[in-house]
Amino acid sequence: MDFTKGLVIVLSGFSGAGKGTIMKHLLKHHKDEYFLSISATSRQMRTGEKEGRDYFFKTREEFEEMIQKGELLEYTEFNGNYYGTPKEYVESLVNDGKDVVLEIEIDGALQVKKIYPEALLLFVTPPDATSLKDRLVGRATETKEVIDQRLSIAYDQSFLMDKYDYLVVNDDLSSCVKRVHNTIQSERYRASRNLKNIDIIQKELKMFSKGEN
Ligand code: 5GP
Repeated sequence: MDFTKGLVIVLSGFSGAGKGTIMKHLLKHHKDEYFLSISATSRQMRTGEKEGRDYFFKTREEFEEMIQKGELLEYTEFNGNYYGTPKEYVESLVNDGKDVVLEIEIDGALQVKKIYPEALLLFVTPPDATSLKDRLVGRATETKEVIDQRLSIAYDQSFLMDKYDYLVVNDDLSSCVKRVHNTIQSERYRASRNLKNIDIIQKELKMFSKGEN
């Protein structure tokens, strides 16, 4: 079968649900199969981060110029900073048959689905709300006020979970990463994604059924 186009895979979810970790493991265990989309952001570079590896760091003015020029597939403002997906990189990989993973915020994910209805949207969630609360409390880096605020954001976000194609339940990391990989691979064979392949089979069968070869 001919799979000429790659998949756009969008991973988002609750803050504290572990999407960053899942994505890192997925890319580590399937190095040649998935490509990470590097976002642009106007936020400050953190210690240990590298230009072009973690993000393309931009000033607000530079970012706004990218918006104006239509260079972003989607963008959002989060915690007072811009974040966005450069369009060209994603498009060239997908056209080359490569699967690209975007780890982005929920409103960005929904923007991507509008542009690429065939994008695969995965929502990372702990098995239940108590686990999410425990994870946020367990981080011990935030005040109670910040944790309550995160839980209130999570509550609002929970109303968008059903817009996603699959939930990624982050119970055990290694089995979760395996499930994500299997989900992506199965998705490739979804009949509705393979109308071209079905058409080729039909045309050949038509010929064969008439005794032609
Ligand atoms: P951080 O500042 O911690 O690196 O990222 C903050 C949030 O921004 C994360 O939830 C991350 O998924 C999201 N994010 C990173 N890049 C993009 C992007 O290109 N577009 C959108 N919509 N969100 C992004």
